[in-house]
Amino acid sequence: MQVYNFSAGPAVLPREVLQKAAAELVAYGDSGQSVMEMSHRGADYEAIHKGCESLLREVMAIPDNYKVLFIQGGSHMQFEMIPQNLRKVGKADFVVTGQWAGKAYSEAANYLEAKLIVSSKDKTFSYIPELDKSAFTPDADYFHICQNNTIFGSRFVDLPDTGSVPLVSDMSSCILSEPVDVSSFGLIYACAQKNMGPSGVTVVIVREDLIQDFEGANAARGHVPTMLRYKTYADNDSLYNTPPTYSIYMCGLVLEWVKSNGGLAAMKERNEKKAALLYNAIDSSALFSNPVAKKDRSLMNVTFVTGNAELDKKFIAEAKSAGLVNLGGHRSVGGMRASIYNAMPLEGVQALVDFIEKFDKENK
Ligand SMILES: *Cc1c(COP(=O)(O)O)cnc(C)c1O
Repeated sequence: MQVYNFSAGPAVLPREVLQKAAAELVAYGDSGQSVMEMSHRGADYEAIHKGCESLLREVMAIPDNYKVLFIQGGSHMQFEMIPQNLRKVGKADFVVTGQWAGKAYSEAANYLEAKLIVSSKDKTFSYIPELDKSAFTPDADYFHICQNNTIFGSRFVDLPDTGSVPLVSDMSSCILSEPVDVSSFGLIYACAQKNMGPSGVTVVIVREDLIQDFEGANAARGHVPTMLRYKTYADNDSLYNTPPTYSIYMCGLVLEWVKSNGGLAAMKERNEKKAALLYNAIDSSALFSNPVAKKDRSLMNVTFVTGNAELDKKFIAEAKSAGLVNLGGHRSVGGMRASIYNAMPLEGVQALVDFIEKFDKENK
């Protein structure tokens, strides 16, 4: 059965990518081996590894003074690695706009003085708060935001102006969804399983001068485990130990797909069109509403509720029977959430919109 998968992550991948991976599964090129069976030190894998990095650099226009690192442990591990690696003065600022932003803040507090600039918890994270620049720590090691709030369905449309303090962005659920100016960030990180590939790899894009050494004369900076140092990955092209080879291969295929479909400008146009279609259906329905401030609505994760938990359940069940799957909201908030990442075709969103209209008529 053909379904449209609205999962927040691991999430839908482009069908063409899955078909290509299937065709190459048993024997990649003329290697006679599956990518899963290859040595990570061999020439075939090396080309895949370097190819993925160079495609990401091309698609995102990553400047030369940024390193691209492939790390395991998900975005959660970045909540731990970022404070340990970026710590100099020992202070960082945080905007808490959802659960992931909150975790980045609370984990960092184990390693440095973490300052909460503002939180939108007062209204269950339904908006992006105004930022008072006078509250920013002028000598902070970094300023952290979660750019797209996967669970609550909000996003930063405008970035905070942090001056010379490096801006660190969790782009797990919005990377590759629109063009970004990498040079306005100190560090960008994103686990792959939302918009870039399967789970298993997390991409870190970090300005070179922020990568610190913790050896020899620099040992006084404190001990950071070898596998948790950005320097370990940067010095070894993310091949210090065995990287998640198959996940990196799949990310490469997704990046090829993004490129051949017009790159990030085209992704943005498609994503805006899909999101507008869906928000419009929700706004013009009698039953459904989206709780997020209009100006802050996510292009990737669209949350909606009827206000009646039983009716929400009925919607999710009937949608599933109609081939529209994984529409339940995050387990912490309930309601519905449609994740409409790059790989969700317009037809999938249209099918959901048609279903919303039908359900609305039948149940109001
Ligand atoms: C999914 C997600 C995470 C957590 O990612 P893991 O890979 O499960 O650690 C963190 N931040 C954001 C914005 C996410 O969407």
